[in-house]
Amino acid sequence: MIRPLLTTLEARTESLRRVKYIRDIDKIPHIPPEERERLKQIAQRYVFRANDYYLDLINWDDPDDPIKRLIIPCEAELNDWGKLDASNEEAVTVARGLQHKYPDTALLLCNEVCGAYCRYCFRKRLFMNDNVEVTNDLSEGLAYIAKNPGIRNVLLTGGDPLLMSTRRLWQTLEALRQIPHVEIIRIGSKIPAFDPWRLLRDLELQEAFREFSTPGKRIYLMAHFDHPRELTSVAVEGIDCFIRCGVICVNQCPLIKGINDDADVLATMFRRLSYIGCQPYYLFQGRPTAGNESFKVPIVRGWEVFSEALRRGSGLARRARFVMSHETGKIEILAVDDQHIYLRYLRAKDPALRGQFMIYKRDDEACWLDDLEPAEGLGAPKFPSSSPFSVLDGPE
Ligand code: SF4
Repeated sequence: MIRPLLTTLEARTESLRRVKYIRDIDKIPHIPPEERERLKQIAQRYVFRANDYYLDLINWDDPDDPIKRLIIPCEAELNDWGKLDASNEEAVTVARGLQHKYPDTALLLCNEVCGAYCRYCFRKRLFMNDNVEVTNDLSEGLAYIAKNPGIRNVLLTGGDPLLMSTRRLWQTLEALRQIPHVEIIRIGSKIPAFDPWRLLRDLELQEAFREFSTPGKRIYLMAHFDHPRELTSVAVEGIDCFIRCGVICVNQCPLIKGINDDADVLATMFRRLSYIGCQPYYLFQGRPTAGNESFKVPIVRGWEVFSEALRRGSGLARRARFVMSHETGKIEILAVDDQHIYLRYLRAKDPALRGQFMIYKRDDEACWLDDLEPAEGLGAPKFPSSSPFSVLDGPE
């Protein structure tokens, strides 16, 4: 009789846990002091933040531990490589905190803080002191969305929207639900991996999701798990809590060298995500972002890892797509053979490119569209946008 009671109390205490954040590398005793001194130089350029729960997932005996690689700075971040804004998001920023690249989709950058900072982040510029792309005042962005009836789909992103206060999140969801043409609200967040208790311990936030994720207009969580080791029992409970609050969960993550560029790792993650009701959605080719050289995976190798991971999964785990978020649009990597790489625009800034199928020469070193050369005699995208592929140009 006593044991179940204790279990309940333990579970309750655990469900109320608050993670402790750190920004000071000196607070990580597992890293030798002289290494900490070197890493502090890197953290001055690209900010460091982590928490006790996530640091506990690291196996400090393994110098190549993927979780360590994900959040602990490394010296290669100072290499002169890539751009801070590799997809030129600035060009589609139409109001403070609002990006509008495709007619039906708007991105609200509503927070410049994350649960921890992924070292490979493609938006690391937002965490730098002089950033002006994110705003706490969403009124301008919301007014823009309200004035544009073509916007059906709003992604809250940042930074991490789930680190906003519950009050601000509630107000933002409420304001979006008052705009009749906004049908889908998506929340891009790595908090389910960094702090699974965020939703578990916050009854008011659970209520907000129940209120605003309605049978006719769902809220989607675009979760960001990169490695199966992040799918701890409490992380699984956290996803279950989203689902019980009426939120549809999917997962998207980049392909990162030394973290998940391994068919076994990816297949295990896709399988487990599909079991828990968080469907694998997009696997992103890493953007050539400043600081990220040591994380890059060439497109051809990425395709090999991705397609092998899909082969090892069930049909549900096989629904992920391998894509590149290029300045010109979202491009799916469809196939690679001995001579060619086959691509297709899933979404495109230029309406003439929507649905376009493209063939490029195989280049095993290329990491981005700009590195590729069109196949012999095929200087431009090959099929008109009226091709059958263009029907796929729906919401991203
Ligand atoms: S959680 Fe997302 S936005 Fe934040 S550091 Fe990681 S990749 Fe960047």
